Amino acid sequence: MAIGTSEKKDNCGTYHEVVIIGAGMTGLCQLHYLKREGIDALVLDANSDVGGTWYNNRYPGCRFDSESYTYGFSFSKEILDKWHWKERFSSQPENLRYTQFVTEELNLRENIEFDSRVKSAHFDDDNTIWNLTLENGKKIGCRYLVTGLGGLSAPTLPRIDGIDSFRGESFHTFNWPHAGVDLKGKRVGVIGSGSTGVQVISEIADKVGQLTVLQRRPNWCAPLKNGEITEDEMQEIRNRYDEIFSACAATSGGFIHAPDRRGFYNVSKEERLELWERLYDEPGFGVWLSNFTDIFVDEEANAEFSEFIAGKIRARVNDPEVAELLIPKDHGFGVQRVPLETNYYEAFNRDNVKLVSLQNEQIECVTETGIKTDKDEYELDLIVYATGFDALTGAFDRIDFRGVGGAKLTDKWANGPETYMGMFVSGFPNLITLVGPQSGSYSTNFPRAIETCVGWATDFLVDVRNKGKTRFEVTAEAEQSWCDEATDAMSKLLLRKAKSWFNGFNSNIDGHDKHQPKPYVYVGGNPRLGKRLAEVRDDDYAGVEVS
Ligand code: NAP
Repeated sequence: MAIGTSEKKDNCGTYHEVVIIGAGMTGLCQLHYLKREGIDALVLDANSDVGGTWYNNRYPGCRFDSESYTYGFSFSKEILDKWHWKERFSSQPENLRYTQFVTEELNLRENIEFDSRVKSAHFDDDNTIWNLTLENGKKIGCRYLVTGLGGLSAPTLPRIDGIDSFRGESFHTFNWPHAGVDLKGKRVGVIGSGSTGVQVISEIADKVGQLTVLQRRPNWCAPLKNGEITEDEMQEIRNRYDEIFSACAATSGGFIHAPDRRGFYNVSKEERLELWERLYDEPGFGVWLSNFTDIFVDEEANAEFSEFIAGKIRARVNDPEVAELLIPKDHGFGVQRVPLETNYYEAFNRDNVKLVSLQNEQIECVTETGIKTDKDEYELDLIVYATGFDALTGAFDRIDFRGVGGAKLTDKWANGPETYMGMFVSGFPNLITLVGPQSGSYSTNFPRAIETCVGWATDFLVDVRNKGKTRFEVTAEAEQSWCDEATDAMSKLLLRKAKSWFNGFNSNIDGHDKHQPKPYVYVGGNPRLGKRLAEVRDDDYAGVEVS
């Protein structure tokens, strides 16, 4: 059977040519591209609506760190013309509405099944079919399986005794109740100071009775500088969309922020300070990405810039002791994901906010009434765990993927992911792992990398169709070569040393609580990823055996 047809298969329930897991930005884009080619595809999502990350993360303060107008899909002029981003860095409710709007505009809903969590996906090599079983018992078969699982969709709680004994409300930020939470007058504890923790702390500090922030390692944060986008400004942005997306395509991170090419050591210290002062006052990631690239690779350059940012933190936090606790001492600026913030540091000047450094005291347990450390006991009504994710591979591990001969993906990836361009996995034919481990997407403004990868995957599937073939599988050699390339790209950056999800690090998961031997993300940049993908396509998909 060729791609483009949909037949009912007796042995596997409903059959579709392509099944895409996930109705977030990746899955929606992939569905649209396949429909455009006349390829039968079904999207399955565990949630009750589209949106992925923007459906799940409903904590206060949740918003883009990307300029809104660089985040939307670029492929539809109609959507670009109709949609009004109301803020420079749009908030979660609006972002969820955007994904719903896109779904309606592109007429995608009829091809999506919600409340459909995939439990297992087994490849039947005799019939060249993926057999999926959903948690609701339904069975679905497909020739090609495409994943858009989201790299940050498997939340992890800290390994602290007594978590279940707490009598107040407690949840991971990913599971913030959809009905909202009444914070007024509450004694709230937040564990976690990554991008999520920083957003939630900044937003709720003036809304709660008492806020206790339990911080293990501080992050280097920088001002977001959000603002309204008026209708006139939006019109001007619409007129410049081509220019905006071309600018994004030219930068490594797919943002509008291009690096300063003068070179750290080629300018005077005064010139460096002049640039940094300007960037610190500008919205978004400019302070990180429009900097000298030396700060990503050179310890000395990084240390000088980190000290500049430390000065900013000291200037914003009234209590010098608190300021020092908020300044990272174990890593330099930008070698972990930089959280962007609005009045984060000022929150610690408030009388109702207390910073507890877990460098100075250790959490012993969660009690029925709060959190007990070896120095104190904090009485709480609500505990918010902003403690991150089993990143990149976690969402895969939660599905029982079996490839050729029943091999388990969890076994193959037991010591870290192995992929070809973040797209294919050897031993797992007819599977495309979009925006998965070792893809460039996580070091990139997400939708820009999504469009690159989805466009490529669609061309590939059309090519398979045109050749009249039905099976593809990457060779082990090609996979190893990509792992080497991803390792090499990472080895050049200070980022390689970070205890961060970028490197598969998570203190709350056995085996992930130390540096991982394999690269989790490809940090070569979106332009280079695009070039590599194009080379492979032009070389008749070298490394992928099609039969
Ligand atoms: P994260 O960056 O992994 O941060 C988790 C935080 O929890 C860290 O501060 C970590 O401390 C702390 N933590 C974990 N386990 C702990 C424990 N047992 N005890 C004490 N502290 C513990 O997770 P995240 O903040 O959710 O962010 C993940 C990624 O999501 C971001 O890097 C970003 O890419 C994305 N994100 C994006 C946006 C946006 O675009 N606007 C917003 C939010 C998140 P340690 O550092 O010491 O491990």
